[in-house]
Amino acid sequence: RSQGRASARPASEGQTEMSILHALSAIVGPGNVITEASDLAPYLVEERGLYQGAALGVVRPGSTAEVAEVVRLCAAAGIPMVPQGGNTGLCGGGVPSEDGQSVVISTERLTRIRAVDPVDFTLTAEAGCVLANLQQAAEEAGCLFPLSLGAEGSCRIGGNISTNAGGTNVLRYGNTRDLVLGLEVVLPDGRVWNGLKRLRKDNTGYALQHLFIGAEGTLGIVTACVLKLFPRPREIATAFVALADLEAALPLFSRARTASGDSVTACELVPRRGLELGMRHVPGVRAPFAAFHDWMLLLELSSSRPGGLREALEEMLGQAFEDGLAVDAVIAESDAQRADFWRIREAIPEAQKKEGGSIKHDVAVATSRVPEMIRRCTRAVEAAMPGVRVVPFGHLGDGNTHFNLTQPEGADKAAFLARWEEMNRIVHDIVVEMEGSISAEHGIGRLKVDELAHYKPGVDLDLMARIKGALDPLGQMNPGKILRRP
Ligand code: FAD
Repeated sequence: RSQGRASARPASEGQTEMSILHALSAIVGPGNVITEASDLAPYLVEERGLYQGAALGVVRPGSTAEVAEVVRLCAAAGIPMVPQGGNTGLCGGGVPSEDGQSVVISTERLTRIRAVDPVDFTLTAEAGCVLANLQQAAEEAGCLFPLSLGAEGSCRIGGNISTNAGGTNVLRYGNTRDLVLGLEVVLPDGRVWNGLKRLRKDNTGYALQHLFIGAEGTLGIVTACVLKLFPRPREIATAFVALADLEAALPLFSRARTASGDSVTACELVPRRGLELGMRHVPGVRAPFAAFHDWMLLLELSSSRPGGLREALEEMLGQAFEDGLAVDAVIAESDAQRADFWRIREAIPEAQKKEGGSIKHDVAVATSRVPEMIRRCTRAVEAAMPGVRVVPFGHLGDGNTHFNLTQPEGADKAAFLARWEEMNRIVHDIVVEMEGSISAEHGIGRLKVDELAHYKPGVDLDLMARIKGALDPLGQMNPGKILRRP
């Protein structure tokens, strides 16, 4: 458990640690305070291996009351706390710092689904529920919980809420923020804020739950939530479309919205290089067309009223061929073929990982400016690093591009990654000049703390620091995430 410690500590401090760990065990029960290095390891490393933290231990409370007691104890002892869900976050927000002074509070035992209500169309669940399990519970009640992302088999709803996760259905259903009706949160002083309301309307002052959504665990620990459910789609039509050029994505997308009565649930951009890397590295990824095309769109339409979607899609695509926007297209004939299309899209990050180093950007601009942003950023990074392989993909319909860079063929990975900040600056400067966001859906965590400080206006930073100071005056809740340490 001393892995990564900056320096040896005096014996008295060691004894204090032992007594704190003992006290934590008394709250959560033996076996739920993890201190063995091999057991701790998965909680200390970030998904992409960017950070290797250290901690006094990992605590796994089994109820809201236990979370509150753990927080009270840590707060009184001056121990920083790091909330963690599935640890799939991509900005290092759930990983403790290297000094080994903090306690990780894992929600993985908070897995009860408290209620599914198909009349209110709500689901009430604890924060440690794995996203896929909530989707399943909604389905069993004949409903849909639409949040969907590549990590859904392991990320937990408290983590989704705390990162305000986006995913592939934002276009139709919104970000996680739009899917939450109420929250229960343990505050940094150990009090429980009960905002577990099922109300669609409630204008009684500040909407406190929104403070905690997207706060990345810096303002408290989400312990439970009320989520919105929707009717299940009864017809889904999915097409993979080869575009005449990148710019054609925009009219195609808006035509699909209009032609389908706004039933487009996903509109994902796939570049040729993304497909080629997927075919090289990820089993099951197959080319959708006989020829290769520079830019493709995965378009998905869905409706809870069956009939007419496929026809609308066919008609829209026929017109797009005539108008020279699309050069090829295939509509999924089965669930298996639909899954094949999605595999192409979802395989891109994994394929990039296997290809060597990648420098990532999760940026957003107004949808109408996505092609311009991609072209400008591509020119700029290629000029700065000849041979770099640009792989921009993702949620075109939301204006959100994962503008990722793969190392030049045969380049040294470490030398490539050493230029991470330089590449970030080039891309983020352009995005900010285009009135965009340097973090569309992954958050700030540790990774973008300096970028946020660089780009956010002073008033915004001041308001954020005041909110943090008001809720967590001692700065013990996930310190050093989102905001610099005071
Ligand atoms: P963690 O990684 O454990 O934590 C994330 C942050 O939330 C940390 O700051 C942590 O301290 C805090 N936190 C966790 N639980 C709580 C809690 N109960 N209370 C307070 N704070 C808490 N993200 C997207 O938005 N869209 C995508 O399409 C997407 N695709 C992904 C695909 C893959 C393959 C992977 C690996 C990740 C992807 N992500 C995506 C990122 C990640 O899955 C999401 O950010 C997810 O919401 C994190 O959930 P988690 O439970 O793993 O949270």
